Amino acid sequence: IEYSENLIPYTRKQLVDKVQEKLDDKRFQHCLRVEKQAMELANENNVDPEKAAIAGLLHDYAKQRSDHDFIKVINDKQMNPVLLDYGNAIWHGVVGAELIKDELHIYDEDILNAVRRHTVGAAYMTKLDQIVYMADYIEPGRDFPGVDKARQITHESLKKGVFFQTQQTLSYLVENAKPIYPGTIATYNAWQNEK
Ligand code: GDP
Ligand code: FE
Ligand code: FE
Ligand code: FE
Repeated sequence: IEYSENLIPYTRKQLVDKVQEKLDDKRFQHCLRVEKQAMELANENNVDPEKAAIAGLLHDYAKQRSDHDFIKVINDKQMNPVLLDYGNAIWHGVVGAELIKDELHIYDEDILNAVRRHTVGAAYMTKLDQIVYMADYIEPGRDFPGVDKARQITHESLKKGVFFQTQQTLSYLVENAKPIYPGTIATYNAWQNEK
């Protein structure tokens, strides 16, 4: 894979190195697989494969930052204070996009939104958002009950994949008595037509 020069101020190799620097090997390898999976879904869905690849590579860029780092960004940038009731699982995408801007100087809002929406989705998602959301869920390293069904549905219909993942995640969270971020419920309700 090579990136052209107009979206980011680096070669692919330089960006890969920057991601690797911030993550342990397991998480880094996941990011490389999401990069590739996102490119594949982009090609299937007539979306810019380069934006998909970059967003896929970057989606978990901030996953291993401390709570302290995230809380500082939420406060400094006056982000929605409801975020403070949650934790890394919710922050690393929504708040992580701010770290991508500040540290990597990547400002493409299509890419940043796909990172922001990769964990909880959103009521409105671009095709690029949907691709990164699904690539994260079905990349070849994922192994959970139902992953093959998720893969099959997603290759048939990206939108149906989005609803399927949202329903599965919500069920899992309720089953395990985890707190539900309001955005997760908004996604679930907005995608009801895609079953
Ligand atoms: P990963 O970063 O590649 O592990 O995947 P994601 O970013 O998609 O998800 C990170 C974690 O967030 C997963 O363990 C999800 O179950 C969890 N998650 C997603 N939605 C919610 C939510 O509404 N509330 C909580 N508490 N966790 C959530
Ligand atoms: Fe993530
Ligand atoms: Fe995800
Ligand atoms: Fe991920």
